Formats: sequence, structure tokens, C-alpha cells
Amino acid sequence: MSPGKLAEARIQELGISHPREIAVELIAMDAGMRVEYESLDGCEAMLVGVGNRAVATIKPSSSRGRERYSIGHELGHWEMHRGRSFRCRVDDPDQNFSSDKVLEKEADSYSAHLLMPSFMFEPAVKVIGDPSFQELDELANGFETSMLATAMRLADIDALPVILACFTATGLRWSKAAAHVPRRWFLRNKLDDDSFAFEYFENGREHPRLGKQPAETWFENLDADKYEVRECCRPGRNGELLVLLYLESKMLYAGFDPHVGNRKFTSAGSYVTRK
Ligand SMILES: [Zn+2]
Repeated sequence: MSPGKLAEARIQELGISHPREIAVELIAMDAGMRVEYESLDGCEAMLVGVGNRAVATIKPSSSRGRERYSIGHELGHWEMHRGRSFRCRVDDPDQNFSSDKVLEKEADSYSAHLLMPSFMFEPAVKVIGDPSFQELDELANGFETSMLATAMRLADIDALPVILACFTATGLRWSKAAAHVPRRWFLRNKLDDDSFAFEYFENGREHPRLGKQPAETWFENLDADKYEVRECCRPGRNGELLVLLYLESKMLYAGFDPHVGNRKFTSAGSYVTRK
């Protein structure tokens, strides 16, 4: 069973039917994992397990959503990777400390599904339509999750043509696209002067609601000028900016693009590096 399915099965098993009932510490306790809060050096959460008992140590955060995500993450390790100890950098897709990225991804997926089970999250998104950061804030409040985890989950459910990206003033740090968004679309590494995101770094102006942009503002592809996207952005942690893009539907059917980035796609969608 996938980590996500495992987490959602647990929620169903416990008869939980509303986001407010997802008391993650109680769920952990039920699985033999106690939660403690203590300031940690160099990591955000730790798991030590002996036999069928474990203690998860969570670094206190001003965001309850982040703490909850960390607990869900450690519970994922406890449920799936028993017999090992972990020191984790949770809720930062680009910076997990562990050398074992696969296990970290599994624990992240477990936590995301535990706190935002598909059968609750997908209908909540559907009611909104195309959530901007403004509405994602409400969703995050409802599920008691961090903005980052909530926006990642939106891309993850693959119901909408979105790309979530994280920028610093110097450029792109990471991005995550919904699975059905064609890999032919290449984000620019540097922010274009016309983007709302650029404006944020220039003068601090926030743009949490969706606004239209020519797709060439965001993508390197030569044919991007034929398309349009909607953009919104929101400050994240440590001077970072989260950007959420909605691709217009014809971008999903654009043919394969061999002339982009330093890569060359095959018609099957995979790529080889250009010599
Ligand atoms: Zn971990």
C-alpha cells in the first residue's frame, strides 16, 4: 500500500470524517508514538523508537500547521520504517537532511494524506474552483496545515492544471507540477520583470489573488507567447516566495517541444541532455 493510502486507511479506520477531528497527537499515541516538544539543533523533528514504543521530538513552531505536519511525518516513519531512527528537516521539499530521500518522501506523503485525506481535501477544493493563495489560506485554516503543505497537496491531487514554485530573489529553488501538466513546460530560472513575483521582490507588493499573465512571462519555451497563465504569489519562509500558476487548458495539449532548456524531449516525454 502506498504511504498515502496507508495514512488515509488509518483515518477511515478511526472513523474520522471532518478535518477538525484529525487530532494528530492522539492518532500518534494510538500507534504507540508519544510526542514531545523541545528545541532541536539542526533539525525540526526526530524519531527514536524501541520495540513497539516511540518518542517523536518536535521543534516548537509558531505555526501549529508545521508542528502537525512534523508529527504526521514522524508517524509516517514510525508506521512504515520501524526499527530506524530519524532526524528530519520537515516541510521543506528542497532541504531534507537525511541522505535517504525516498524514506523522507514517503513520510511526507504519509503526513500530507493523514492531515488532508483525499476524501475531504478534494471536495473542499472543488467547492472553491481554482484556489488562489487567498483561498488556500482558508483551506489551510480548515485543515490546520501550513500554507506550503496545503499548496503542495493541491498540486499533488492532480485535479487542476497547476505548478507550484518557490523563488528567492536570486531565482527558482524548486517547483512541483500537477502530474497531468506536460513536462514540456520549462519554468524560467530568473523571474521576469512583468511577473507579480518580481514585483514582490522589487517593492514588497503581495499578489495573493490570481491575475492573468502571458505564459512567456513564466516559461522558457519559444511558443509560450501563444498562451496565457494565471499567477498568484505569497511570501513563504526565509525570504522565499511561493508562486502558484494555473495553465490555460490548451497548454495541456501543446505538442512536444524539443527546443527548451538544455534538454531534449523524446516524443514519449522523457529527455536526454543535449550534447
Ligand atoms: Zn523524516
